Amino acid sequence: MKKIQMVDLKGQYQAIKEQVNTSISNVLETSAFINGPEVHAFQAALEDYLVVKHVIPCANGTDALQIAMMGLGLKSGDEVITADFTFAATVEVIALLQLTPVLVDVEPDTFNIDISAIEKAITSKTKAIVPVHLFGQCADMDAILELAEKHNLYVIEDNAQAIGANHTFKNGKKQKAGTMGHVGSTSFFPSKNLGCYGDGGAIFTNDDGLAHTIRGIVNHGMYERYHHDVVGVNSRLDSIQAVVLRAKLPKLDAYCNARREAARKYSRAFEGQPNIIVPKTVNGCTGICDTCDCHVFHQYTLKITNGKRDALVQYLNENGVPCGVYYPIPLHRQKAYIDDRYNEADFPVTNQLVKEVISLPMHTELDDEQINFITNTIIGFING
Ligand SMILES: *Cc1c(COP(=O)(O)O)cnc(C)c1O
Repeated sequence: MKKIQMVDLKGQYQAIKEQVNTSISNVLETSAFINGPEVHAFQAALEDYLVVKHVIPCANGTDALQIAMMGLGLKSGDEVITADFTFAATVEVIALLQLTPVLVDVEPDTFNIDISAIEKAITSKTKAIVPVHLFGQCADMDAILELAEKHNLYVIEDNAQAIGANHTFKNGKKQKAGTMGHVGSTSFFPSKNLGCYGDGGAIFTNDDGLAHTIRGIVNHGMYERYHHDVVGVNSRLDSIQAVVLRAKLPKLDAYCNARREAARKYSRAFEGQPNIIVPKTVNGCTGICDTCDCHVFHQYTLKITNGKRDALVQYLNENGVPCGVYYPIPLHRQKAYIDDRYNEADFPVTNQLVKEVISLPMHTELDDEQINFITNTIIGFING
């Protein structure tokens, strides 16, 4: 059996090596390293793929979120509601901009932000909601967009983990993750579903005015050369990353399908196991549905309900099965984000999830032998 990797960047590179190497050589020859034609070509290709009017490439997914918030003109003291159970980048940029992060609990089955908790947290100072499409599946965007409209709030989608995912609205309309709110952001960090070979990110919007504002912000607030109209940042995608992304984008749907296929195999193997809860997919899918295109499984995350999660992590580490705990500490209990406004009683789900979740190896190169080994090892330990 091939050694099992949590994320297999090498295997994926082998499949696109010639194309990527040639394109990178071309960038070196032309020496258009920043904002060259390759960046524009990737931007246009991603706009087509996502069916969104504007993609603005930038340096990473954290910048993308920050710039989206700057573009919306959010001001110090404005409250921004986001999920307690996510990667810290989401809350970090809210705090950095001196906005007030308001963390709320998530749903126990999808791990995504809890709509009733958002509703409870809305005050006269609330200006935006940041749903994180965690682990590759969209938050309940029907309800979030409805709440936002009712309370006149912006919706900023943190789509770092769900590029390529679809959301089917209640009326049957389908839209790509990241394009449903006022603005969306993503990350092209190497281990993300569409990853480059360094750092990269992008902002998406259908709003022409906001897109214009953001294009200036990513470039030192310049709309005309050496005229700085607003305070901006320096956040660019370089051409070498753009050619990698352009080689991978046409394969993104196939990558997503390979992940779904691995997820289906995992979920089938764990069927009927009393102490193992497999991830739930929305839109009526069961997670082993063969036509599902909603979830792109950035992570395949189980809940271990018999208190053996930590022991399982150790056992897997000792037996050649990499795994991860995303996330081990709720954000409201992280030193940087502790706030008197939070009550432990408001976070029953996150507080439980941090004790139960475990993410399994997930990438495009997993084979049946590896999946069988992983699932048998887990089932053997949990029942042992
Ligand atoms: C990865 C990630 C980010 C940050 O992206 P970077 O490119 O690493 O800055 C933001 N939010 C979430 C949910 C992420 O998973």
